[in-house]
Amino acid sequence: MDKIEHLGVAVKSLKASNLLFEKLLGTSHYKIEEVVSEGVRTSFFKSGPNKIELLEATSDESPIAKFIEKNGEGIHHIAFSVTDIVAEMARLKKEGFTLLNDTPKKGADNKLVAFIHPKSANGILIELCQEALE
Ligand code: ZN
Repeated sequence: MDKIEHLGVAVKSLKASNLLFEKLLGTSHYKIEEVVSEGVRTSFFKSGPNKIELLEATSDESPIAKFIEKNGEGIHHIAFSVTDIVAEMARLKKEGFTLLNDTPKKGADNKLVAFIHPKSANGILIELCQEALE
């Protein structure tokens, strides 16, 4: 795995949290994107070389809605960038990690993504992401 690509933060209201993070970071979000398949609307902020993704549920069935119901708002996942997501998924599976998807799927920000179950990673949902080819 390479660097941390971004931190994902579950929020109740993207509108309210966009304002909050704008004040916190001194810069406004640079994109808003809905990922229909995941039931989320996301916004992205840059802080120096780092990125923060805010995630708001678009329905009660959304994993983000369920997360907030259980844990409240807060850090939802850590995303690592990888250069070969398929190889990395195979490596982690072999190491005993539980993957939440068998094949990479399309995520926000033009990425191919895969998730590792928090139960196999000290309670942290881990996202792998690889820049998707156009
Ligand atoms: Zn993410």
